[in-house]
Amino acid sequence: MIAEEQLKQLQGFDGSAPVLSVYLSLEPGRQPEAAHQTAFKGLVHGLRGGLDDDGRARLDAEAAAVQAWLDREPPQGLGLAIFSCQPAGLWQAHFLPIVVADHVAYEAAPHLTPLLDLLEEHARYAVVLVDKEQARLFTVRLNQIEEERYAHDDVYIDESHTGWDEGKYERQHDALVQRHLKETVARLERLQRRRPFDRLFVGGLTEAASALQRLLPPPLAARLADTFNATVDLTGPELLARTQPLAERAEREAEARLLDELLDLAAPGGRAVRGVTPTLDALFQAAVRTLVVADGVRLSGAECTNCGRLLAGDAAACTLCGGATRPVGDLVEWAVERTFQQGGDVELIHGDPAARLREAGEGLGALLRFPLPA
Ligand SMILES: [Zn+2]
Repeated sequence: MIAEEQLKQLQGFDGSAPVLSVYLSLEPGRQPEAAHQTAFKGLVHGLRGGLDDDGRARLDAEAAAVQAWLDREPPQGLGLAIFSCQPAGLWQAHFLPIVVADHVAYEAAPHLTPLLDLLEEHARYAVVLVDKEQARLFTVRLNQIEEERYAHDDVYIDESHTGWDEGKYERQHDALVQRHLKETVARLERLQRRRPFDRLFVGGLTEAASALQRLLPPPLAARLADTFNATVDLTGPELLARTQPLAERAEREAEARLLDELLDLAAPGGRAVRGVTPTLDALFQAAVRTLVVADGVRLSGAECTNCGRLLAGDAAACTLCGGATRPVGDLVEWAVERTFQQGGDVELIHGDPAARLREAGEGLGALLRFPLPA
């Protein structure tokens, strides 16, 4: 799967030449007939119409490179994402464990929104299954589970101590359980360093699970998103079935909080903006800390050839400098790229929060680094 450095390379792409971005679904049933290849050819054909002879020749060269790769590589997983710009030496091809919608773009920057959405929606989370004797630790990313290997954790009372009176046995046992839970916390801390996660879910029978939660240090306690009842012997599919809905709900709640913050701060002179034109203004002033985009928003726009400002709709002249404009294919994608160029990040929101942002801000807004002059 895509590594952090590869994502950074895409986010930092300099736009020196157009990039062919390709997303294809490899869902089961599609693969035997190589239907993804047919879809790819059709989508590229659709792009050629909007280009001049020179542009078509360059697109054809990128498409040929992608086609050669598709011919060579047997499909794996449920989707794929490819980014190709031969003049700039950019080539990345990733099989994905999640289905993506077919989409092809040929623009000055890699088309990243579908990939970012996927990585955000399936961001890594950690799960600990715990009882008084055992603990199993997992990380889950893109529906794939990794279990931490650990072998020195069993709590047991030496048989030779059976002559102890009951009270002493219990005290000894409690001390061992406490040690086991502390050791589990230490394992979680190591896991966090090795495979950083934003959210933690604790599964277990209530007593040991609650005791564990009380022992979490602040950085882990802050990541604790939810708890659930489970035994430590869950299978992988059971673990996914139990935790994915919790992860999804936690993500929706985080999006709702982000939107609340944005709407609270979005006032003249405030630290946020909502709406397409205010957001484009903020981008032009390099003020965007977090660009917030409602899922499914499609906007057309233009770029000023003189000052570089992005403009909504089909503005014939720049509203700032009066310069001539050229249309951009996908305004949201351009806004995403500009945000990365100024070191900001992008949050895609879904469901109810997305509907609220469409209502309040045409689906686009931003948290700002500094208030804009009114
Ligand atoms: Zn301008």
